[in-house]
Amino acid sequence: MRPSFYPRLINGAFDDPGLFIPFIFEKHAVIFDIGDIYSLSTRDILKIRHVFVTHTHMDHFVGFDRILRLFLGREQNLFLYGPEGLLKNVEGKLAGYSWNLVKNFSNRFTLYASEVRPEHIITKKYLCQNRFLPAQEAIQQPFNGILLQEPGFDVSAVILDHSIPCLGFAIREQFHVNIIKNNVSCLGLEIGPWLKEFKQALFNNQDPDSEFEVKLRKENSSAKRFVLKDLAKRIALITPGQKVVYIADVVYNKFNVEKMVELARAADHLFIEAAFLEKDRDLAENKYHLTARQAGYIAGRARVKQFTLFHFSPRYTGQELLFEKEARQAYESVIKNGSKEKEVKP
Ligand SMILES: [Zn+2]
Ligand SMILES: [Zn+2]
Repeated sequence: MRPSFYPRLINGAFDDPGLFIPFIFEKHAVIFDIGDIYSLSTRDILKIRHVFVTHTHMDHFVGFDRILRLFLGREQNLFLYGPEGLLKNVEGKLAGYSWNLVKNFSNRFTLYASEVRPEHIITKKYLCQNRFLPAQEAIQQPFNGILLQEPGFDVSAVILDHSIPCLGFAIREQFHVNIIKNNVSCLGLEIGPWLKEFKQALFNNQDPDSEFEVKLRKENSSAKRFVLKDLAKRIALITPGQKVVYIADVVYNKFNVEKMVELARAADHLFIEAAFLEKDRDLAENKYHLTARQAGYIAGRARVKQFTLFHFSPRYTGQELLFEKEARQAYESVIKNGSKEKEVKP
């Protein structure tokens, strides 16, 4: 089944991190981290509706200004999510410009920024026409791991440690419903708009024992009724949607590893930082980053189908292949021997 989104790293492995995730056939994209985003076209940036920031070190957040610049003057809502401290950082950035003329704008561009804390998500609204002064009241909601729930996908997060709180993200596509056309005609039904309603009933988790009515287009033919789960069994092949995970800037400790493995479990594609090689493990620890070997170990423990490393320290320019080799060895070793991989244990 064809996936509904295709993630791609914005820059090369030595440049600022960031994952751009456009949805096919839709003018819609989400983005994980917004460091240097100049290699994204204006057209691509304007597709973004949801921005997820792991943490606000410059290399992950400096692109905020470019996004804001392009959205100014548009009738659009933009949703930004990040770790504790995000609201202060956003307000600091917004306070860095003069906004005396925006009251004349006819559009109502609005930024919603949400700060993820262990127990709650705190959201503030910043209306452009109101000079981006925060709306008086912040909205507080309980945090249960899910940041965004849309009809076709959801985004969840865990709070990791990078000497400051740092979020790891997973985007999951909803399952796919493939219609077996032959079986539709075997039931004496025709292909028609009712199939859309049928898929929607499954996506909405409608009670499987409830009745589903198939309205036929032919005149004089009355509607046919089925039990939803029976109809699904006869005419649909249900396959899981893809899961993509993004982890940037974390220290290797037991607490982080367990959370990352849980987040990335069975992902189709894990994008994970590896700033250092294992020979510089102490340096990685001092800077609260991973080594390639540690990243490979996490990918193996999580049994991900595919992983991509990024965020290499410039000290290793020209040595990209060593990162791949080191991570691949750790990954394969864990897959083969289980998580008994002593050397990589925290
Ligand atoms: Zn970084
Ligand atoms: Zn960082």
